[in-house]
Amino acid sequence: MESAPCAAAPPTNASSGATGAVSTAKRPAAASPTRLSRSPTRSRAPQHAHNLIIYKATQPSAPAQVNLSSLGILYIAYHWECLTGALGGPLTHIVTVPSTRGRQGPHPIETIITNRIRLPRLQPLVNTNYSPDDRDFHADRFWLPPGAATGARVLLMDDTWTSGGRIQSLAYMLKATGAAGVAAVVLGRHVNPEYGPARTLIRQLRAAPRFDLTRCALEDSGRTGT
Ligand SMILES: [Zn+2]
Repeated sequence: MESAPCAAAPPTNASSGATGAVSTAKRPAAASPTRLSRSPTRSRAPQHAHNLIIYKATQPSAPAQVNLSSLGILYIAYHWECLTGALGGPLTHIVTVPSTRGRQGPHPIETIITNRIRLPRLQPLVNTNYSPDDRDFHADRFWLPPGAATGARVLLMDDTWTSGGRIQSLAYMLKATGAAGVAAVVLGRHVNPEYGPARTLIRQLRAAPRFDLTRCALEDSGRTGT
């Protein structure tokens, strides 16, 4: 994949867009806020939040799929080198957080993004002892055969960050199964402005609301690995 290293991108004070983060901690993986939005259950949801719902509806929206596919693939292309740099080497595998609701067939994010990235795919299974609505961290929420991810540097993708519990559970499992590193990328994040701990994040996003695809979460966190 050709990429435009974010280190060469012009400086920006934009604040939102698809972002990634690299997990180096033993336990939780990291993922980053990507888009300020209201809860999808609220009316008048912003367009990006709306797209994240209708792209995988029973009758999926083709324009929403094009929008999100472009966002995800361009983000990964722009930040490919900083992701691999932070992981200490080339990405070796890609994985998507599987549906906890028993959806049949490929997850829509696989159709519009991850299947277009030529990396071997990991296919974790879901522990059905947990409720599909459970958004807490669980070390055993997902499962891969022992050794399946040994030494892997994994690009972990999900469409939406709500609590982070599922993506962190999957990143934990990948590391427990032997992954050398996990870079998590999500397309959007729901932020409830009435939730106290979210207010600092909302203030930061509102202070620099211009979206810029070249802005990198790794640069923000000082973890570009270069
Ligand atoms: Zn970057």
